Amino acid sequence: LAFFVDTTAKAQVRSHPVSLQLTRATEQQQLEAMRDQFLMSISHELRTPLTEVKGYVNLLLEYGDKIDSSTRTTFLQSASYGCDEFELIIANMLDTARLGTSPRPLRNQTLPLETTILEICENIHFPEHTLQLDLQPDLIFCADRQQFRQILRNLLSNASKYSPSSSIIRVSASEWEDESGQPLVRICVQDTGAGIPPDAVALLFQKFSRLPRDVQGSTGGTGLGLFICKQFVEGMGGRIWVESEGSAGQGSCFYFTLPRSVDPPHAQEAEI
Ligand code: ADP
Repeated sequence: LAFFVDTTAKAQVRSHPVSLQLTRATEQQQLEAMRDQFLMSISHELRTPLTEVKGYVNLLLEYGDKIDSSTRTTFLQSASYGCDEFELIIANMLDTARLGTSPRPLRNQTLPLETTILEICENIHFPEHTLQLDLQPDLIFCADRQQFRQILRNLLSNASKYSPSSSIIRVSASEWEDESGQPLVRICVQDTGAGIPPDAVALLFQKFSRLPRDVQGSTGGTGLGLFICKQFVEGMGGRIWVESEGSAGQGSCFYFTLPRSVDPPHAQEAEI
């Protein structure tokens, strides 16, 4: 009963039968345990990219004048990738919290598909993977630019986290139609990683959902990335799904669709 903090609650507890008081105390204990667990895992997730950035910055400070310029560039790219990952975790956490209270209003605009994807990919420096792009030119689609960027960054981040280093990540985009003939674009992020067991596919897009350790190994994560992707894609009128053989080396293809547009693209807005 010591778990109730405010006096009103204490007064309410006193007037209830003992069994109800105990149930409430247990619930409160469970909530506190969940909160502590959440804080612990988030702190751990934030520390991972930060440690990586710090490691590369320290290497540069110590050996910067002794290494060749291509090694220096590799170190800087790795540090930059660590910053991207850090930023992505914060954005996913903030957006998950906002969805329940005050979601950011959608700012849909018509965008050129090829250049929008190119710009996003050019700004991510994958230290351990090769990115291969296969983008159909001259397609215009309708999306909130910031949300589109976050979806793609989450899928790319997962592809790199859950596939072997030095492997290829492929991003393709082309026109598409749904069953009712609605004009869409379909974007696919494909990796050659461990894949996803068929029975887990439906659960992955739920909040905090992660595959068990024996399937995905010790790779860390918050379980928020795919949840955010689904919320954003569906909010913009699209659909997201994954196709995977579920066996090592077969990899996964994450697909999402968004409405295709016939209007010319808006002038590009500055990144916020
Ligand atoms: P996080 O990666 O932070 O745990 P996500 O919501 O992005 O959270 O992904 C949820 C889970 O889906 C991951 O923990 C992982 O188990 C699985 N997953 C996501 N992408 C892939 C992928 N490309 N290959 C294999 N498993 C994946």
